[in-house]
Amino acid sequence: MRTLALFVLSLVLAASAAFVQGPAGQDPAALHARTPRRLVIRNAMVIYGNAKPAFGPVDVVVDAGVITAVGPRAGAGGPPADAVIDATGKYVMPGMVNTHMHWHEERAPGVPQPIQYERNLYLASGVTTARELGGNLAKTKRWQKESHDHTIISPRIIAFTRPSMGKLLTPDEIRQGVRDAKAAGADGLKLMFLDRDQLEVVMSEAKALGLPTTTHIGVEETTAKDYIELGVTSIEHFYGIGDAALDGIQNFPADMNYTNEFHRFARAGELYAQANPDKLRAIVELMASKGVAWSPTLSIYEASRDVTRAQTLPWYRDYLHPSMELYWKPNLDNHGSYFVGWGNTQEVRWRKNYRIWMDTLRHFGLHGGLITTGDDAGYIYSLYGFGLVRELELHEEAGFHPLEVIAHATTNGAQLLGLGDRLGKVRVGFTADLLVVNGNPLDNLRLLNPAGTDVVLNGQLTCGGGVEWTIKDGIPYHGPTLMAEVREMVAEARRKTGTTTP
Ligand SMILES: [Zn+2]
Repeated sequence: MRTLALFVLSLVLAASAAFVQGPAGQDPAALHARTPRRLVIRNAMVIYGNAKPAFGPVDVVVDAGVITAVGPRAGAGGPPADAVIDATGKYVMPGMVNTHMHWHEERAPGVPQPIQYERNLYLASGVTTARELGGNLAKTKRWQKESHDHTIISPRIIAFTRPSMGKLLTPDEIRQGVRDAKAAGADGLKLMFLDRDQLEVVMSEAKALGLPTTTHIGVEETTAKDYIELGVTSIEHFYGIGDAALDGIQNFPADMNYTNEFHRFARAGELYAQANPDKLRAIVELMASKGVAWSPTLSIYEASRDVTRAQTLPWYRDYLHPSMELYWKPNLDNHGSYFVGWGNTQEVRWRKNYRIWMDTLRHFGLHGGLITTGDDAGYIYSLYGFGLVRELELHEEAGFHPLEVIAHATTNGAQLLGLGDRLGKVRVGFTADLLVVNGNPLDNLRLLNPAGTDVVLNGQLTCGGGVEWTIKDGIPYHGPTLMAEVREMVAEARRKTGTTTP
Protein backbone atom coordinates (compact mmCIF):
# COMPACT_ATOMS: atom_id res chain seq x y z
CA MET A 1 0.00 0.00 0.00
CA ARG A 2 2.79 2.37 0.96
CA THR A 3 4.59 1.77 -2.34
CA LEU A 4 1.37 2.38 -4.21
CA ALA A 5 0.74 5.62 -2.32
CA LEU A 6 4.28 6.79 -3.05
CA PHE A 7 3.82 5.89 -6.68
CA VAL A 8 0.56 7.81 -6.95
CA LEU A 9 2.21 10.74 -5.17
CA SER A 10 5.11 10.64 -7.61
CA LEU A 11 2.65 10.71 -10.48
CA VAL A 12 0.96 13.80 -9.07
CA LEU A 13 4.31 15.51 -8.49
CA ALA A 14 5.47 14.61 -11.98
CA ALA A 15 2.31 16.01 -13.51
CA SER A 16 2.55 19.29 -11.63
CA ALA A 17 6.29 19.63 -12.29
CA ALA A 18 6.04 18.81 -15.96
CA PHE A 19 7.12 22.26 -17.10
CA VAL A 20 9.67 22.95 -14.39
CA GLN A 21 13.29 22.36 -15.38
CA GLY A 22 14.62 20.26 -12.52
CA PRO A 23 17.91 18.39 -12.28
CA ALA A 24 16.32 15.75 -14.53
CA GLY A 25 16.25 18.35 -17.27
CA GLN A 26 20.06 18.22 -17.48
CA ASP A 27 20.08 14.52 -18.25
CA PRO A 28 21.11 13.70 -21.80
CA ALA A 29 17.81 12.71 -23.37
CA ALA A 30 17.54 9.50 -25.37
CA LEU A 31 17.46 10.15 -29.10
CA HIS A 32 15.51 8.24 -31.72
CA ALA A 33 17.57 5.45 -33.31
CA ARG A 34 20.79 6.68 -31.71
CA THR A 35 22.87 3.97 -30.00
CA PRO A 36 23.82 4.90 -26.44
CA ARG A 37 26.68 3.34 -24.51
CA ARG A 38 24.74 3.53 -21.26
CA LEU A 39 20.99 4.04 -21.25
CA VAL A 40 19.12 4.62 -18.00
CA ILE A 41 15.34 4.39 -17.78
CA ARG A 42 14.48 6.23 -14.64
CA ASN A 43 11.65 5.79 -12.17
CA ALA A 44 9.69 3.12 -14.04
CA MET A 45 7.12 0.62 -12.95
CA VAL A 46 8.24 -2.71 -14.37
CA ILE A 47 6.22 -5.57 -15.83
CA TYR A 48 8.78 -8.35 -15.67
CA GLY A 49 7.32 -10.58 -18.37
CA ASN A 50 6.57 -13.97 -16.81
CA ALA A 51 3.23 -12.93 -15.26
CA LYS A 52 4.57 -11.92 -11.85
CA PRO A 53 3.11 -8.64 -10.56
CA ALA A 54 4.48 -5.27 -11.60
CA PHE A 55 6.97 -3.58 -9.27
CA GLY A 56 8.70 -0.24 -8.84
CA PRO A 57 9.41 2.52 -9.27
CA VAL A 58 12.92 1.45 -10.25
CA ASP A 59 15.67 2.40 -12.67
CA VAL A 60 16.60 0.07 -15.50
CA VAL A 61 20.21 0.37 -16.59
CA VAL A 62 21.36 -0.79 -20.02
CA ASP A 63 25.02 -1.03 -20.99
CA ALA A 64 25.97 -1.86 -24.59
CA GLY A 65 22.55 -3.33 -25.27
CA VAL A 66 22.33 -5.54 -22.18
CA ILE A 67 20.29 -4.94 -19.02
CA THR A 68 22.89 -4.53 -16.24
CA ALA A 69 20.82 -3.31 -13.27
CA VAL A 70 17.19 -3.08 -12.21
CA GLY A 71 16.40 -1.44 -8.89
CA PRO A 72 15.65 1.73 -6.94
CA ARG A 73 18.16 4.39 -8.03
CA ALA A 74 20.15 1.71 -9.85
CA GLY A 75 21.18 4.36 -12.34
CA ALA A 76 22.66 6.63 -9.67
CA GLY A 77 26.03 4.89 -9.34
CA GLY A 78 28.59 3.94 -11.93
CA PRO A 79 29.54 5.81 -15.06
CA PRO A 80 27.21 8.57 -16.24
CA ALA A 81 24.49 7.70 -18.71
CA ASP A 82 24.67 9.15 -22.19
CA ALA A 83 20.92 8.63 -22.69
CA VAL A 84 18.17 8.92 -20.09
CA ILE A 85 14.46 8.21 -20.38
CA ASP A 86 12.32 9.59 -17.59
CA ALA A 87 9.68 6.91 -17.12
CA THR A 88 7.85 8.57 -14.25
CA GLY A 89 4.22 7.47 -14.51
CA LYS A 90 5.15 4.99 -17.23
CA TYR A 91 5.52 1.22 -17.38
CA VAL A 92 8.45 -0.71 -18.74
CA MET A 93 7.86 -4.20 -20.12
CA PRO A 94 9.80 -6.57 -22.38
CA GLY A 95 9.61 -6.04 -26.12
CA MET A 96 6.98 -8.22 -27.73
CA VAL A 97 7.46 -11.25 -29.94
CA ASN A 98 5.20 -11.56 -32.96
CA THR A 99 5.29 -15.30 -33.67
CA HIS A 100 3.33 -15.15 -36.93
CA MET A 101 3.88 -12.41 -39.48
CA HIS A 102 4.81 -11.77 -43.12
CA TRP A 103 6.88 -9.03 -44.73
CA HIS A 104 5.08 -7.35 -47.63
CA GLU A 105 6.40 -4.88 -50.19
CA GLU A 106 3.17 -4.81 -52.13
CA ARG A 107 -0.42 -5.82 -51.45
CA ALA A 108 -2.54 -4.62 -54.38
CA PRO A 109 -0.69 -5.61 -57.58
CA GLY A 110 1.40 -2.74 -58.94
CA VAL A 111 1.04 -0.55 -55.86
CA PRO A 112 4.33 -0.70 -53.95
CA GLN A 113 4.28 -0.56 -50.17
CA PRO A 114 7.63 0.50 -48.69
CA ILE A 115 8.99 -2.14 -46.34
CA GLN A 116 9.80 0.58 -43.80
CA TYR A 117 6.06 1.18 -43.42
CA GLU A 118 5.63 -2.28 -41.93
CA ARG A 119 8.85 -2.12 -39.90
CA ASN A 120 7.84 1.19 -38.33
CA LEU A 121 4.33 -0.03 -37.52
CA TYR A 122 5.66 -3.14 -35.81
CA LEU A 123 8.28 -1.30 -33.79
CA ALA A 124 5.80 1.41 -32.77
CA SER A 125 3.44 -1.34 -31.60
CA GLY A 126 6.14 -2.75 -29.35
CA VAL A 127 7.25 -5.66 -31.53
CA THR A 128 10.99 -6.20 -31.12
CA THR A 129 11.11 -9.73 -32.55
CA ALA A 130 9.17 -10.88 -35.60
CA ARG A 131 8.95 -14.44 -36.87
CA GLU A 132 8.12 -14.57 -40.55
CA LEU A 133 6.26 -17.72 -41.53
CA GLY A 134 6.83 -17.94 -45.24
CA GLY A 135 7.96 -15.15 -47.54
CA ASN A 136 10.96 -14.42 -49.73
CA LEU A 137 13.57 -16.27 -47.69
CA ALA A 138 16.64 -14.77 -49.40
CA LYS A 139 15.37 -11.24 -48.84
CA THR A 140 14.25 -11.93 -45.29
CA LYS A 141 17.67 -13.39 -44.47
CA ARG A 142 19.29 -10.18 -45.74
CA TRP A 143 16.98 -8.06 -43.62
CA GLN A 144 17.65 -10.36 -40.68
CA LYS A 145 21.36 -9.59 -40.92
CA GLU A 146 20.78 -5.86 -41.45
CA SER A 147 18.49 -5.77 -38.42
CA HIS A 148 21.08 -7.67 -36.39
CA ASP A 149 23.78 -5.20 -37.51
CA HIS A 150 21.46 -2.21 -36.84
CA THR A 151 21.90 -0.86 -40.35
CA ILE A 152 18.09 -0.82 -40.72
CA ILE A 153 15.37 0.18 -38.29
CA SER A 154 13.46 -3.05 -37.82
CA PRO A 155 12.46 -5.65 -35.28
CA ARG A 156 14.77 -8.65 -34.91
CA ILE A 157 13.83 -11.19 -37.56
CA ILE A 158 13.39 -14.96 -37.42
CA ALA A 159 12.81 -16.56 -40.82
CA PHE A 160 10.73 -19.70 -41.24
CA THR A 161 10.07 -21.01 -44.71
CA ARG A 162 7.95 -23.60 -46.46
CA PRO A 163 10.05 -26.41 -47.89
CA SER A 164 9.71 -26.47 -51.64
CA MET A 165 6.31 -28.01 -52.36
CA GLY A 166 7.02 -28.77 -56.00
CA LYS A 167 9.54 -31.40 -54.99
CA LEU A 168 7.46 -33.19 -52.40
CA LEU A 169 7.04 -36.35 -54.47
CA THR A 170 9.24 -39.22 -53.34
CA PRO A 171 10.60 -39.46 -49.81
CA ASP A 172 14.07 -38.59 -51.13
CA GLU A 173 12.77 -35.45 -52.84
CA ILE A 174 10.89 -34.46 -49.71
CA ARG A 175 14.07 -34.83 -47.65
CA GLN A 176 15.93 -32.78 -50.25
CA GLY A 177 13.30 -30.00 -49.97
CA VAL A 178 13.92 -29.81 -46.22
CA ARG A 179 17.71 -29.85 -46.68
CA ASP A 180 17.43 -27.08 -49.30
CA ALA A 181 15.48 -24.94 -46.84
CA LYS A 182 18.15 -25.50 -44.20
CA ALA A 183 20.93 -24.69 -46.68
CA ALA A 184 19.15 -21.46 -47.64
CA GLY A 185 19.33 -20.38 -44.01
CA ALA A 186 15.80 -21.11 -42.79
CA ASP A 187 15.50 -20.81 -39.01
CA GLY A 188 12.59 -23.24 -39.12
CA LEU A 189 9.89 -24.71 -41.30
CA LYS A 190 6.29 -23.75 -41.85
CA LEU A 191 4.35 -26.84 -42.88
CA MET A 192 1.00 -27.07 -44.62
CA PHE A 193 -0.95 -29.22 -47.10
CA LEU A 194 0.79 -32.50 -46.25
CA ASP A 195 -0.54 -36.04 -46.20
CA ARG A 196 0.52 -38.20 -43.28
CA ASP A 197 3.23 -40.10 -45.18
CA GLN A 198 4.76 -36.87 -46.47
CA LEU A 199 4.58 -35.31 -43.03
CA GLU A 200 6.42 -38.25 -41.46
CA VAL A 201 9.33 -37.76 -43.85
CA VAL A 202 9.40 -33.97 -43.41
CA MET A 203 9.36 -34.25 -39.64
CA SER A 204 12.05 -36.89 -39.48
CA GLU A 205 14.35 -34.82 -41.73
CA ALA A 206 13.59 -31.59 -39.85
CA LYS A 207 14.47 -33.32 -36.57
CA ALA A 208 17.69 -34.70 -38.04
CA LEU A 209 18.68 -31.17 -39.09
CA GLY A 210 17.56 -29.57 -35.82
CA LEU A 211 14.98 -27.36 -37.54
CA PRO A 212 11.97 -26.26 -35.47
CA THR A 213 8.59 -26.60 -37.18
CA THR A 214 5.23 -24.94 -37.12
CA THR A 215 2.09 -25.67 -39.06
CA HIS A 216 -0.95 -24.10 -40.59
CA ILE A 217 -3.22 -27.14 -40.89
CA GLY A 218 -5.98 -26.72 -43.43
CA VAL A 219 -8.80 -29.17 -44.02
CA GLU A 220 -6.75 -32.16 -45.08
CA GLU A 221 -5.69 -35.68 -44.26
CA THR A 222 -3.61 -34.66 -41.28
CA THR A 223 -4.92 -32.89 -38.18
CA ALA A 224 -3.29 -31.51 -35.07
CA LYS A 225 -3.15 -35.07 -33.75
CA ASP A 226 -0.71 -36.13 -36.48
CA TYR A 227 1.48 -33.08 -35.95
CA ILE A 228 1.50 -33.53 -32.16
CA GLU A 229 2.42 -37.21 -32.50
CA LEU A 230 5.27 -36.38 -34.85
CA GLY A 231 6.67 -33.67 -32.57
CA VAL A 232 5.83 -30.34 -34.25
CA THR A 233 7.10 -27.34 -32.27
CA SER A 234 3.96 -25.21 -32.58
CA ILE A 235 0.56 -24.95 -34.25
CA GLU A 236 -0.83 -21.77 -35.89
CA HIS A 237 -4.47 -20.66 -36.12
CA PHE A 238 -7.21 -23.10 -35.17
CA TYR A 239 -8.30 -25.37 -37.99
CA GLY A 240 -6.26 -28.50 -37.35
CA ILE A 241 -7.16 -28.56 -33.67
CA GLY A 242 -10.90 -28.36 -34.36
CA ASP A 243 -10.55 -30.95 -37.10
CA ALA A 244 -8.88 -33.36 -34.70
CA ALA A 245 -11.95 -33.14 -32.43
CA LEU A 246 -14.68 -33.90 -34.97
CA ASP A 247 -16.73 -37.08 -34.89
CA GLY A 248 -15.89 -38.07 -38.43
CA ILE A 249 -15.47 -35.08 -40.73
CA GLN A 250 -16.99 -31.62 -40.82
CA ASN A 251 -20.54 -31.58 -42.20
CA PHE A 252 -19.84 -29.72 -45.43
CA PRO A 253 -22.76 -29.08 -47.82
CA ALA A 254 -22.64 -30.75 -51.24
CA ASP A 255 -21.66 -27.56 -53.08
CA MET A 256 -18.65 -26.88 -50.83
CA ASN A 257 -15.66 -25.80 -52.95
CA TYR A 258 -12.48 -25.33 -50.94
CA THR A 259 -10.98 -23.13 -53.66
CA ASN A 260 -13.75 -20.60 -53.15
CA GLU A 261 -12.63 -18.44 -50.23
CA PHE A 262 -16.17 -17.45 -49.32
CA HIS A 263 -17.02 -21.14 -48.91
CA ARG A 264 -13.78 -21.86 -47.13
CA PHE A 265 -13.93 -19.08 -44.56
CA ALA A 266 -17.68 -19.26 -43.98
CA ARG A 267 -17.51 -23.00 -43.26
CA ALA A 268 -14.39 -22.57 -41.11
CA GLY A 269 -16.63 -20.56 -38.80
CA GLU A 270 -18.73 -23.66 -38.14
CA LEU A 271 -15.85 -25.93 -37.21
CA TYR A 272 -15.70 -25.54 -33.45
CA ALA A 273 -19.48 -25.80 -33.05
CA GLN A 274 -19.32 -29.18 -34.82
CA ALA A 275 -16.35 -30.43 -32.81
CA ASN A 276 -16.91 -32.85 -29.95
CA PRO A 277 -16.25 -30.79 -26.77
CA ASP A 278 -14.66 -33.72 -24.92
CA LYS A 279 -12.33 -34.38 -27.84
CA LEU A 280 -11.46 -30.69 -28.07
CA ARG A 281 -10.34 -30.62 -24.47
CA ALA A 282 -8.48 -33.92 -24.89
CA ILE A 283 -6.58 -32.78 -27.97
CA VAL A 284 -5.30 -29.58 -26.35
CA GLU A 285 -4.40 -31.50 -23.20
CA LEU A 286 -2.35 -33.85 -25.39
CA MET A 287 -0.81 -30.84 -27.11
CA ALA A 288 0.14 -29.28 -23.76
CA SER A 289 1.55 -32.53 -22.39
CA LYS A 290 3.74 -32.98 -25.49
CA GLY A 291 5.04 -29.42 -25.23
CA VAL A 292 3.51 -28.25 -28.51
CA ALA A 293 2.96 -24.47 -28.46
CA TRP A 294 -0.09 -22.65 -29.88
CA SER A 295 -0.03 -19.33 -31.72
CA PRO A 296 -3.78 -18.91 -32.17
CA THR A 297 -3.78 -15.65 -34.18
CA LEU A 298 -7.24 -14.77 -32.86
CA SER A 299 -7.09 -11.28 -34.34
CA ILE A 300 -6.62 -12.25 -37.98
CA TYR A 301 -10.10 -13.82 -38.32
CA GLU A 302 -11.92 -11.21 -36.30
CA ALA A 303 -13.48 -9.48 -39.30
CA SER A 304 -15.43 -12.71 -39.81
CA ARG A 305 -17.43 -12.02 -36.66
CA ASP A 306 -17.95 -8.29 -37.30
CA VAL A 307 -16.91 -7.09 -40.72
CA THR A 308 -18.33 -3.59 -40.27
CA ARG A 309 -16.07 -3.00 -37.29
CA ALA A 310 -13.09 -4.28 -39.25
CA GLN A 311 -13.81 -2.02 -42.22
CA THR A 312 -14.13 1.17 -40.19
CA LEU A 313 -11.31 1.18 -37.66
CA PRO A 314 -10.43 4.79 -36.84
CA TRP A 315 -6.67 4.46 -37.47
CA TYR A 316 -7.17 3.74 -41.17
CA ARG A 317 -7.56 7.48 -41.71
CA ASP A 318 -3.90 8.19 -41.06
CA TYR A 319 -2.20 4.82 -41.25
CA LEU A 320 -3.77 2.60 -43.93
CA HIS A 321 -1.53 2.32 -46.97
CA PRO A 322 -3.48 2.43 -50.25
CA SER A 323 -1.81 -0.78 -51.45
CA MET A 324 -3.48 -2.60 -48.60
CA GLU A 325 -6.69 -0.63 -48.79
CA LEU A 326 -7.12 -1.77 -52.39
CA TYR A 327 -6.13 -5.35 -51.59
CA TRP A 328 -8.72 -5.56 -48.83
CA LYS A 329 -11.66 -4.57 -51.03
CA PRO A 330 -13.95 -7.64 -51.13
CA ASN A 331 -12.62 -9.80 -53.96
CA LEU A 332 -12.38 -13.58 -54.04
CA ASP A 333 -9.10 -13.39 -55.96
CA ASN A 334 -7.26 -11.71 -53.08
CA HIS A 335 -6.42 -14.08 -50.23
CA GLY A 336 -8.46 -13.13 -47.17
CA SER A 337 -10.72 -10.63 -48.96
CA TYR A 338 -13.65 -13.06 -48.95
CA PHE A 339 -16.39 -10.70 -47.84
CA VAL A 340 -18.47 -11.08 -50.99
CA GLY A 341 -22.02 -11.62 -49.81
CA TRP A 342 -20.90 -12.03 -46.20
CA GLY A 343 -23.97 -11.80 -43.97
CA ASN A 344 -25.23 -11.85 -40.44
CA THR A 345 -25.61 -15.64 -40.45
CA GLN A 346 -21.88 -16.12 -41.11
CA GLU A 347 -21.02 -13.62 -38.39
CA VAL A 348 -23.29 -15.28 -35.82
CA ARG A 349 -21.64 -18.63 -36.53
CA TRP A 350 -18.18 -17.10 -36.25
CA ARG A 351 -19.06 -15.50 -32.91
CA LYS A 352 -20.05 -18.92 -31.60
CA ASN A 353 -16.84 -20.34 -33.10
CA TYR A 354 -14.81 -17.71 -31.26
CA ARG A 355 -16.41 -18.49 -27.91
CA ILE A 356 -15.54 -22.19 -28.19
CA TRP A 357 -12.11 -21.47 -29.67
CA MET A 358 -11.29 -19.09 -26.82
CA ASP A 359 -12.52 -21.58 -24.20
CA THR A 360 -10.33 -24.21 -25.83
CA LEU A 361 -7.33 -21.89 -25.75
CA ARG A 362 -8.01 -21.15 -22.09
CA HIS A 363 -8.22 -24.89 -21.37
CA PHE A 364 -4.88 -25.34 -23.13
CA GLY A 365 -3.35 -22.59 -20.99
CA LEU A 366 -4.76 -24.07 -17.79
CA HIS A 367 -3.07 -27.36 -18.68
CA GLY A 368 0.30 -25.66 -19.00
CA GLY A 369 0.27 -25.15 -22.77
CA LEU A 370 2.65 -22.56 -24.17
CA ILE A 371 0.62 -19.77 -25.82
CA THR A 372 2.20 -17.07 -27.98
CA THR A 373 0.93 -14.05 -29.90
CA GLY A 374 1.02 -13.53 -33.65
CA ASP A 375 -0.97 -11.18 -35.84
CA ASP A 376 -0.54 -12.54 -39.41
CA ALA A 377 -1.37 -8.98 -40.47
CA GLY A 378 -1.64 -7.57 -43.97
CA TYR A 379 -4.73 -9.68 -44.64
CA ILE A 380 -8.39 -9.51 -43.57
CA TYR A 381 -8.39 -5.90 -42.34
CA SER A 382 -5.53 -6.49 -39.93
CA LEU A 383 -2.92 -3.75 -39.97
CA TYR A 384 0.66 -4.58 -38.95
CA GLY A 385 1.21 -4.08 -35.24
CA PHE A 386 -2.33 -2.91 -34.60
CA GLY A 387 -3.20 -6.56 -35.20
CA LEU A 388 -0.76 -7.73 -32.53
CA VAL A 389 -2.16 -5.32 -29.93
CA ARG A 390 -5.64 -6.54 -30.85
CA GLU A 391 -4.36 -10.10 -30.41
CA LEU A 392 -3.49 -9.24 -26.80
CA GLU A 393 -6.95 -7.78 -26.24
CA LEU A 394 -8.53 -10.99 -27.53
CA HIS A 395 -6.34 -13.13 -25.26
CA GLU A 396 -7.85 -11.16 -22.38
CA GLU A 397 -11.29 -11.82 -23.84
CA ALA A 398 -10.39 -15.53 -23.86
CA GLY A 399 -10.08 -15.35 -20.08
CA PHE A 400 -6.43 -14.60 -19.41
CA HIS A 401 -5.30 -11.97 -16.90
CA PRO A 402 -3.47 -9.07 -18.57
CA LEU A 403 -0.27 -10.20 -16.81
CA GLU A 404 -0.66 -13.60 -18.46
CA VAL A 405 -1.47 -11.97 -21.79
CA ILE A 406 1.77 -9.98 -21.62
CA ALA A 407 3.61 -13.20 -20.75
CA HIS A 408 2.15 -14.76 -23.91
CA ALA A 409 3.55 -11.84 -25.91
CA THR A 410 6.96 -11.73 -24.24
CA THR A 411 8.33 -14.62 -22.16
CA ASN A 412 6.37 -17.29 -24.04
CA GLY A 413 7.25 -15.94 -27.46
CA ALA A 414 10.94 -15.87 -26.56
CA GLN A 415 10.72 -19.40 -25.20
CA LEU A 416 9.07 -20.68 -28.38
CA LEU A 417 11.89 -19.23 -30.47
CA GLY A 418 14.55 -20.79 -28.27
CA LEU A 419 15.61 -17.34 -27.05
CA GLY A 420 14.13 -17.59 -23.57
CA ASP A 421 17.57 -17.35 -21.99
CA ARG A 422 18.09 -13.78 -23.26
CA LEU A 423 14.76 -12.30 -24.37
CA GLY A 424 11.28 -11.79 -22.96
CA LYS A 425 12.03 -10.59 -19.43
CA VAL A 426 13.21 -7.37 -17.78
CA ARG A 427 16.10 -9.26 -16.23
CA VAL A 428 19.72 -8.43 -15.56
CA GLY A 429 21.90 -10.11 -18.17
CA PHE A 430 19.10 -10.15 -20.76
CA THR A 431 19.14 -8.29 -24.06
CA ALA A 432 17.62 -4.84 -23.63
CA ASP A 433 14.46 -5.30 -25.68
CA LEU A 434 12.16 -3.05 -23.69
CA LEU A 435 9.04 -0.93 -24.11
CA VAL A 436 8.29 2.29 -22.27
CA VAL A 437 4.51 2.52 -22.24
CA ASN A 438 2.54 5.70 -21.57
CA GLY A 439 0.47 4.37 -18.69
CA ASN A 440 -0.25 0.95 -17.29
CA PRO A 441 -1.08 -1.67 -19.92
CA LEU A 442 -2.32 -4.01 -17.17
CA ASP A 443 -5.10 -1.50 -16.60
CA ASN A 444 -5.90 -1.32 -20.32
CA LEU A 445 -4.05 -3.37 -22.93
CA ARG A 446 -5.26 -0.91 -25.55
CA LEU A 447 -2.67 1.56 -24.25
CA LEU A 448 -0.26 -0.39 -26.47
CA ASN A 449 -2.15 0.66 -29.60
CA PRO A 450 0.30 2.71 -31.65
CA ALA A 451 -2.36 5.31 -32.48
CA GLY A 452 -3.08 5.68 -28.77
CA THR A 453 -6.48 5.38 -27.18
CA ASP A 454 -8.94 7.31 -25.02
CA VAL A 455 -7.54 8.01 -21.56
CA VAL A 456 -8.57 10.30 -18.73
CA LEU A 457 -5.71 12.63 -17.71
CA ASN A 458 -6.24 15.19 -14.98
CA GLY A 459 -10.00 14.64 -15.30
CA GLN A 460 -9.93 15.30 -19.06
CA LEU A 461 -10.77 12.75 -21.73
CA THR A 462 -7.94 12.80 -24.21
CA CYS A 463 -5.95 10.60 -26.59
CA GLY A 464 -3.09 9.01 -24.67
CA GLY A 465 -1.30 5.75 -24.21
CA GLY A 466 0.94 4.34 -26.90
CA VAL A 467 4.43 2.93 -26.68
CA GLU A 468 6.66 5.98 -26.12
CA TRP A 469 9.90 4.09 -26.69
CA THR A 470 10.60 0.71 -28.22
CA ILE A 471 14.11 -0.33 -27.27
CA LYS A 472 15.75 -3.10 -29.26
CA ASP A 473 19.28 -4.28 -28.41
CA GLY A 474 19.52 -1.20 -26.20
CA ILE A 475 18.73 1.22 -29.06
CA PRO A 476 15.71 3.43 -28.35
CA TYR A 477 13.17 4.08 -31.11
CA HIS A 478 10.64 6.81 -30.46
CA GLY A 479 7.08 5.59 -31.09
CA PRO A 480 5.54 8.96 -32.08
CA THR A 481 8.44 9.58 -34.50
CA LEU A 482 7.96 6.17 -36.15
CA MET A 483 4.23 6.85 -36.49
CA ALA A 484 4.78 10.33 -37.92
CA GLU A 485 6.97 8.70 -40.59
CA VAL A 486 4.21 6.19 -41.32
CA ARG A 487 1.68 9.01 -41.74
CA GLU A 488 4.00 10.67 -44.23
CA MET A 489 4.52 7.42 -46.19
CA VAL A 490 0.76 6.92 -46.37
CA ALA A 491 0.09 10.52 -47.43
CA GLU A 492 2.72 10.28 -50.15
CA ALA A 493 1.37 6.96 -51.45
CA ARG A 494 -2.14 8.45 -51.53
CA ARG A 495 -0.87 11.39 -53.57
CA LYS A 496 0.84 9.02 -56.01
CA THR A 497 -2.11 6.65 -56.38
CA GLY A 498 -4.76 9.37 -56.37
CA THR A 499 -6.56 7.69 -53.46
CA THR A 500 -8.20 9.67 -50.73
CA THR A 501 -8.56 9.20 -47.01
CA PRO A 502 -10.81 6.16 -46.41
ZN1 LIG B 1 0.40 -16.34 -42.09
